[in-house]
Amino acid sequence: MIYKIAVIKGDGIGPEIVEEAIKILNKIGDKYNHNFDFNEVLAGGIAIDKVGKNLPNETLEICRNSDAVILGAVGGPKWDSLPGNERPEKALLELRKKLNLYSNIRPAVMFDVLKESCPLKPEIIKGGMDIVIVRELTSGIYFGEKYSKGDYACDSMEYSKYEIERIAHQAFKIAQTRNKQVTSVDKSNVLETSRLWRKTVNEIAKKYPDITLNHMYVDNAAMQLVKNPKQFDVIVTENMFGDILSDEASMITGSIGMLPSASLGDNNFGMYEPVHGSAPDIAGSNKANPIATILSISMMLKYSFDLQKESDNIEHAVKKALKDGFRTPDIGKIGEKIITTQEMGNIIVENI
Ligand code: NAD
Repeated sequence: MIYKIAVIKGDGIGPEIVEEAIKILNKIGDKYNHNFDFNEVLAGGIAIDKVGKNLPNETLEICRNSDAVILGAVGGPKWDSLPGNERPEKALLELRKKLNLYSNIRPAVMFDVLKESCPLKPEIIKGGMDIVIVRELTSGIYFGEKYSKGDYACDSMEYSKYEIERIAHQAFKIAQTRNKQVTSVDKSNVLETSRLWRKTVNEIAKKYPDITLNHMYVDNAAMQLVKNPKQFDVIVTENMFGDILSDEASMITGSIGMLPSASLGDNNFGMYEPVHGSAPDIAGSNKANPIATILSISMMLKYSFDLQKESDNIEHAVKKALKDGFRTPDIGKIGEKIITTQEMGNIIVENI
């Protein structure tokens, strides 16, 4: 089987970390006999420099005709003075919208060997933490009607039943591959959209009798995440609540260089990228941690290609590298084996 993958390396550390992810995919391809067909395309600052546009039409077309998209990161100080619509980061929003990537999946996993980086007390995270946040990505207050008039401004939160149904299905399906528990987060004591949300999630839940569903108000969820994060398996929530809660959850894990993400649409199509940005301060110095991107491609194998075994193999290879004491500088301390971006990639390849 041939898997067509559009590759957007982007700016800053983007090219360095994506190179390592591709090395891993090639190794998986050799080991399990899969054919990954990479098509490199431009977006972000590099696209502005080379073709004068942050998201060239050709890029969008090639992404549309691929089975999945891998993205490094976009943006940097060089393009910061451009108007909002012309900036590299705008390409990302456009890609998500135009590819109809309506659900954002962000795992927040605490690696045992990195637990010292967690800002919470050790007893709270004892035994680890493994949460997936499923955030609705193309509706809600970020996309509702908005206007301002003098000293008054308004943003509307809008949801249709269909938008809630499809994200709820995603969450329940993901829970079926995990601990079979979904927490739906809303503010249904105050918001009409949340009442529709809760009612719809309850309806969809009937189709997944193997999953335990509970509901939580968003203010309580924010508190519970730091009080007892281990109680969660899959959290599903609307766009803005998910934006805030996923940052909170990811911080608990301690390092931004470790966190992957997937943005999924219909028919298993998805875009896979690290949570972090282009890190211009360390770009080109072979210091970037490639693990967030490598774990993102592990998600791609699982969610877009249904290659669970191969996906698990990558996760185990990453865990082994960490367990053996290898660290890029962002997660390293004196006495550990501090290595470069490329060395980390090579070690993970060897572990596969
Ligand atoms: P950032 O995530 O790029 O960097 C924040 C800090 O974390 C920096 O000190 C950086 O060195 C470090 N860091 C990030 N990723 C790392 C990695 N893999 N390994 C080691 N250290 C890492 O955030 P920022 O500095 O706010 O933004 C820089 C640029 O990236 C901006 O132009 C911003 O708009 C853009 N950005 C892009 C995306 C994206 O493409 N998805 C996301 C966020 C920010």
